[in-house]
Amino acid sequence: MDRMGTGEFARVSGLSRKALRLYDELGLLRPATVDARTGYRWYAADQLDRARLVAWLRRLGMPLPRIAAVLDLPPASGAAQIRAYRAEIERDAATRRALATLLADHLSREDEIMTAPAYVLHAAAASDRGLVRERHQDLAHADAGLLLVADGFGPAGADMSRVTLDAVLARRNAAGPALDALRSAVDEAADGVAAIGAEGSGCTLTAVALTGDRLALVHIGDGRVYLLRDGALTRLTDDHTVAWAEFENGGLTEDELASRPQREVLLQALTPGALPRPDALVHEVRAGDRYLVSTDGLHAVLPRAETLAVLRATPDPAEAVAELVRRVLAAGAPDNVACAVGDVVAAG
Ligand code: MN
Repeated sequence: MDRMGTGEFARVSGLSRKALRLYDELGLLRPATVDARTGYRWYAADQLDRARLVAWLRRLGMPLPRIAAVLDLPPASGAAQIRAYRAEIERDAATRRALATLLADHLSREDEIMTAPAYVLHAAAASDRGLVRERHQDLAHADAGLLLVADGFGPAGADMSRVTLDAVLARRNAAGPALDALRSAVDEAADGVAAIGAEGSGCTLTAVALTGDRLALVHIGDGRVYLLRDGALTRLTDDHTVAWAEFENGGLTEDELASRPQREVLLQALTPGALPRPDALVHEVRAGDRYLVSTDGLHAVLPRAETLAVLRATPDPAEAVAELVRRVLAAGAPDNVACAVGDVVAAG
């Protein structure tokens, strides 16, 4: 049985005829031969493994373009993509759990929220083109209620990080919970990016907004948020990169991750035509917390221990961001760099 007709191939592969036709059109799974006269499609027996893999990935809910990417890779890299997808599913679930908690919290705390301690950020931001890149497409922003970085890439990257920053600044004071305002800012940024529309361009966004004692965080791409609390540094975000899966499976340290060849391959970013699915969470702050938001031009260059040392040794936020950038430059600054540091202090 070398060749199978569509019906038989559908039966043994677990894919419907309709699906087979679609996958043929998309180039995912082309028939071995097509009868020029009748148009009847024939599949080879050795196409079954590929077909079954497609069927399984569809059952997992993986989008077709990503299935196409997995099929084109050698098995080990394909496995890494599937692990990255699994990590995304888990993050998605975590985000939805956090939102559900937040909403329940919001409804049950309506009266109480007025009496929650109010904090503001003593904050500063800095960015630099670096020593290698010809253009500067990173942006950073810091004020008493907001820390943000955006990392543009591709020909229109600078315009895209600009519309993204502007969207967050425009939406930040919208009524309702800060996390909702940030999420609608992401949607607006995505519209702005789509309107620019340059193929192969996009930008990342990592932002935190402080209201009362709650820090709302949205994140898409490979920027990061770190928290320095009681002298220890904790990362609050995951990178949306292919290499991240390897790190999450325990094969790499955070510093080793920085040198992986696939570190820069983003699974998610604000790009024309892509529906943004940012991570979103709410975090309770304490007086004395210090938050660092950075683009990969910082955390892929400076070892974690060095960043920690600077954050500990430099009390003034403006001096801290300047020192971080200075050290990135001293390390060769292969990429643009942007960072913001905010210290949580009592309001008033
Ligand atoms: Mn970058």
